[in-house]
Amino acid sequence: MGLQYLRSVLRHPCLAQKHGAFWVCHLSTQALPSSSDQHLKFCIVGSGPAGFYTLDRLLKAFGNHIHVDVLDRLPTPFGLVRSGVSPDHQDTKNVINQFTAVARDPRASFFGNVALGRDVSLLELRSLYHGVVLAYGAESDKKLGVPGEGGRNVFSAREFVWWYNGHPDGKHLPVDLRGVSSVAVCGIGNVALDCARVLLHPHDELAATDIAAHAMEHIREHGGGIKDVHLLARRGPVQAACTPKELKELVGLPDLTVHAPPAQMEVSAADQAEMKKTRMRRRVYDLIKQAADAGAPSDPSSQGLGGKQRHLHFQFYRSPKEETAGDGLGDEKEFRSNYAVYAFEGILEARTLDLGITKGRAGQFLGGEK
Ligand SMILES: Cc1cc2nc3c(=O)[nH]c(=O)nc-3n(C[C@H](O)[C@H](O)[C@H](O)COP(=O)(O)OP(=O)(O)OC[C@H]3O[C@@H](n4cnc5c(N)ncnc54)[C@H](O)[C@@H]3O)c2cc1C
Repeated sequence: MGLQYLRSVLRHPCLAQKHGAFWVCHLSTQALPSSSDQHLKFCIVGSGPAGFYTLDRLLKAFGNHIHVDVLDRLPTPFGLVRSGVSPDHQDTKNVINQFTAVARDPRASFFGNVALGRDVSLLELRSLYHGVVLAYGAESDKKLGVPGEGGRNVFSAREFVWWYNGHPDGKHLPVDLRGVSSVAVCGIGNVALDCARVLLHPHDELAATDIAAHAMEHIREHGGGIKDVHLLARRGPVQAACTPKELKELVGLPDLTVHAPPAQMEVSAADQAEMKKTRMRRRVYDLIKQAADAGAPSDPSSQGLGGKQRHLHFQFYRSPKEETAGDGLGDEKEFRSNYAVYAFEGILEARTLDLGITKGRAGQFLGGEK
């Protein structure tokens, strides 16, 4: 349903009900008409969780005196529930059922393919509705500002997640896992963990999730060479931003060996106090420690790039300094010098970390923090 339709609906509100669509908005009651008999028209821009929870509240608050239109720039609703939540987290996506029930309310209508700023202006919406709620999320990335950031196979986590979740704007992201043996994921929040999990998941299990078909095809065909994933965190294990449940899933993947340098797992008095105060911090620390302690396998053949196992490396106190992997295709030099450079945070002198990506064509570097 496009803008013309939206405009016609505004002239003939009953059309929206015929189409069984839905729509969201939100505004100060000061701006509302004083008569309780007057019908209110509200608009919500964005159909992610913020839009839907607002819609639900508006419908509950104003009974039969309201009609709410929800706009989205995409043809489909649900925002990042659809294109952000990891494909193997189906339970989280179940909230879509709750949103769908709200959307079916005859007092709500949905208009996909209508973008604020492109198809309709805020001024226009304000002239058409009693209230307009802007719930269009955050669709840009925090830039690291390091050399090589825009290079080949260097993506923000949002882009990568959009790619494997089938977001229309992410489908053509030039992810190229051919020859990739090692991946650096920058950040240690839940989104960074999602990226690492998708790359390390056994392919048959991943295929059973609702991962986008094009991404699964590429991972199945070319992602088999990935042996090492490095999770880079600027602070220590006690400050890791991820939650225990997500961490447990990652370190518990089959055929995965977990590594964390013992020196980096040492805790200060301040760390101890932090863990005492927040149980979740203790739990996250313990999970990393246990996984890393169990990580040194007795079978040496499972170590290194040549083994069957895959390896997850926690790298704490590191911030990306420069990204040098993945320039060009088929360049022989690249086979020999494929590495990334990082600096220890807080130390002025830059230290080079050779990730040991000496085989394979390209490393990949994902920014896990938004
Ligand atoms: C990669 C990623 C993974 C995540 N995974 C999880 C998870 O597993 N579990 C969890 O609880 N949270 C997760 N989150 C967080 C969660 O997705 C967000 O907190 C939540 O989606 C925010 O809701 P929102 O409605 O504000 O924005 P969004 O969900 O982003 O919805 C905004 C909507 O507005 C639309 N829009 C944007 N611009 C316009 C425009 N100009 N005109 C019209 N419409 C527009 C967009 O198309 C979109 O549908 C994740 C976030 C990211 C980035």
